[in-house]
Amino acid sequence: MTNPTASPRAPRLVVRFALYSALALLLAGVGILWFVRHETQTRAEDEVTTRASQAAASLAPKLRPTDLETPVTGRRLAALDALFKPELMGGVVRVKLWGRNGTVTYSNDHSLIGSHVTTKGEFENVLNGEPIRELGHLNDEGGKGKNIKIVSAYVPLKPRGQSHATGVLEFYNDYRPVEDQVVATVKPVAIALGLALLLLYASLFPILNQVTKALEHRNRRLEQQADELARTLNERRQAVASLHDAETRYRALVEQLPLVTYVSAIDKPGFSAYVSPQIESMLGYTPEEWLETPNLFWRVLHPDDVERVRTEHRQGYESGKAFSSQYRLLSRDGRVVWVEDQVQMVHDAEETPVQAQGFLLDITQRKAAELALGENEERYRTLVANVPGAIFRCAIDDNWTIEYVSGEIEELVGYPSSDFVGNRVRTFASIIHPEDAPVVSKEVGEAVVEGRPYTIEYRALHRDGHVRYVVERGQAIVGADGERKLDGAIFDLTERHIAQQALEESEERTRLIVDTALDAVVTIDAAGLVTGWNRRAEAIFGWSSEEAVGRLLADTVIPPEHREAHTRGIERFLATGEGPVLGKRIEITGLRRNGKEFPVELAISPVKTGGVYSFSAFLRDISDRRAAEDERERLVHELEAQNESLLQLDRLKDEFVALVSHELRTPLTSIRGYLELLLEGEAGDLNDEQRQFLGVVERNAHRLLALVGDLLFLAQVEAGKLSLEIGAVDLGAVAAESVETTRPLADEKGVTLTLATGPLPLLAGDRARLAQLLDNLISNGIKFTPAGGRIDVRVRGERGNAVLEVRDTGMGIAPEEQQNLFERFFRSSRATEQAIPGTGLGLAISKAIVQAHGGRITVASDESTGSTFHVSLPIRQTRPETDAEQVAL
Ligand code: ADP
Repeated sequence: MTNPTASPRAPRLVVRFALYSALALLLAGVGILWFVRHETQTRAEDEVTTRASQAAASLAPKLRPTDLETPVTGRRLAALDALFKPELMGGVVRVKLWGRNGTVTYSNDHSLIGSHVTTKGEFENVLNGEPIRELGHLNDEGGKGKNIKIVSAYVPLKPRGQSHATGVLEFYNDYRPVEDQVVATVKPVAIALGLALLLLYASLFPILNQVTKALEHRNRRLEQQADELARTLNERRQAVASLHDAETRYRALVEQLPLVTYVSAIDKPGFSAYVSPQIESMLGYTPEEWLETPNLFWRVLHPDDVERVRTEHRQGYESGKAFSSQYRLLSRDGRVVWVEDQVQMVHDAEETPVQAQGFLLDITQRKAAELALGENEERYRTLVANVPGAIFRCAIDDNWTIEYVSGEIEELVGYPSSDFVGNRVRTFASIIHPEDAPVVSKEVGEAVVEGRPYTIEYRALHRDGHVRYVVERGQAIVGADGERKLDGAIFDLTERHIAQQALEESEERTRLIVDTALDAVVTIDAAGLVTGWNRRAEAIFGWSSEEAVGRLLADTVIPPEHREAHTRGIERFLATGEGPVLGKRIEITGLRRNGKEFPVELAISPVKTGGVYSFSAFLRDISDRRAAEDERERLVHELEAQNESLLQLDRLKDEFVALVSHELRTPLTSIRGYLELLLEGEAGDLNDEQRQFLGVVERNAHRLLALVGDLLFLAQVEAGKLSLEIGAVDLGAVAAESVETTRPLADEKGVTLTLATGPLPLLAGDRARLAQLLDNLISNGIKFTPAGGRIDVRVRGERGNAVLEVRDTGMGIAPEEQQNLFERFFRSSRATEQAIPGTGLGLAISKAIVQAHGGRITVASDESTGSTFHVSLPIRQTRPETDAEQVAL
């Protein structure tokens, strides 16, 4: 809305501003003009006065006194013209000379000569030395020529020789140059002012314009606001009036509602500022009591609900949003009243909740119904959940649209029940195997028409791609909505189906196995009649299955002489449950259809089905096996004979070796005897060379003898003819002797040899053999230990045994070779590589000696640290009779 008076106001303001500023500038201009003019005029007057004074001073001497007494005429006039002529240049347009009496005595305008002065007083002043100046027109006092504007000055004239002024000289200056000058000075100022004014207008007008517009706009807004304010005020007045009406109506309404309304302050939950009268019918307390009794709400709140309600209220108030809560209140007469409290927050202008208002709805009945329903539902739910199948209700349509199906369906087909309800994700029809769907439709349809329950098996498609076998039982019912529905349950049969299939397959397999078995499989009943007869039975016995089944087994396959025993056996088993041949493999004689008898392997096992016995017999024709066995037996005999002759040969060899060794020993002994004689000089003196040669012969004869001894010993061992000469032996002494015997060898080799003997009783043994054992072990130690090493021999008693240990720091024996160490002729690869001499008989002999003493010999060896041979011998001879007897190895 616009104000019609507002728009002219602005132009007026502008005009006024323009006017005032122009006026101000004009005044400034006039001021300047006035000032310049005044200044210029004063200067012009000063100038004319000065000029006149100067002229008066310079001309006075040239003037005659007469010149100032009477008007000049004639030649004097001309002289004076000439005199004044120079003065009449540079702006002086007229000159007058006045006499004392005020008459013009001379003027360059001759017409003026003789004229009189008009103002006597002023003239007198000039004569007295006070020059005057005037502004006027040239012809003001008469004269000829253009009546131009002039500035004139009167100055006193004091001619020569006069003490006081006798006349007055008057100069008229043209005023126009002064005016021109003024104009020239003022003109740029005026132009500047004019321009300034223009500039001012140019810059101020837009501003003014804008200001004007802004003002206009503000005015308009103010007017609008004023209008709106007026309208709002009006509305408010109306609203207040209607609010009052509404409040009265609302209160009446609220107090008639079947619920309790209340208002409570936010800072005091439970304390009401208002409560509707219905509180009395609900809880038996009057509104006044409710409002006045402190804490009444919390007192009537069911104790079990206090905590929860407190929390709910606090959270609700903090959130500042509406909330609802259900709890129990106790009425005055002790009834439990379930209420629903719907709380609404009332906020102030700053959005801070200030009070809560709400209503309490009595929901006791609803709660009771809910509770009952909940219990029912819970019962129903557990019932349904415990059924080992999916319970459903569906529409009788193409999709079998599911209205309800229990969670079990997920177990069955892999999809949650919610998928099916109302065909939300899939239809129930979609999980029925397409091949079975028509049958399902047909069967269910017929049952529905006939109004009877149905049971149908079909395949369902599981989410994982497998097929589930299910059985569905159901019946049509009329639902709450009057529609016909199907109620039913679906059970998973897959496992049973699989088991049945497996059973069928297994039966088929068994049949196949039985049919293709290499054995004749025959089943008979308790009476001994054939009930099963496989192909192999047909082949073996010559009876076809058709012929055999139903015959007595005994008459069919058992030779007459065994039949009775067979029949008795069955009878005995049936009577006592005992059957010595049952479950075992026995070999009997079978009878073919052609009357030929043949060996048979038979195994019979009883089978009890349904309390009745039957027997399965497995019969195998073992004619071939028998033949093979006979053959093998023959071969075994042959081998045994060969073995025997080999052993014989071996014995012969051993005997031969023993014989040869024995026979070698005699000549060797003889050789040694004669050598000794030779060396002792019995056959004359020997030179050194001969002695040296004979020494070599002796050493080799000795070695040969030792070797022969070893061979003979082993031959004895092999022949089981090792004989020990048992006596009481001090093993410590034997060891000391052996150490002493071998010490030169050790010294020669550069190895340390030590002996340590512990307390040890006398041992029953062959002293010479034990000495041989020790010699063998110690000399081996020396042989396989490089110079700088050591051999430690230890002998001690330990738990009824004599223990002998020979430890060396030698080359050791590789672990894989240790097991062969005690075999005849065995030599370790290292010993062979290093060409250490030896025969590989020493340890075999040692072992034989130890074993002959009932002891044990073992070795622990390691290629980096050396070997330890450990011998333990029982101290007490367990077999004293071995004294004279041979020890069998
Ligand atoms: P020989 O010593 O005559 O070879 P032995 O029967 O005494 O025969 O020994 C058989 C082999 O056992 C030896 O050749 C040697 O390789 C190994 N052996 C025996 N004693 C030792 C030992 N103390 N250290 C290393 N090797 C040994």
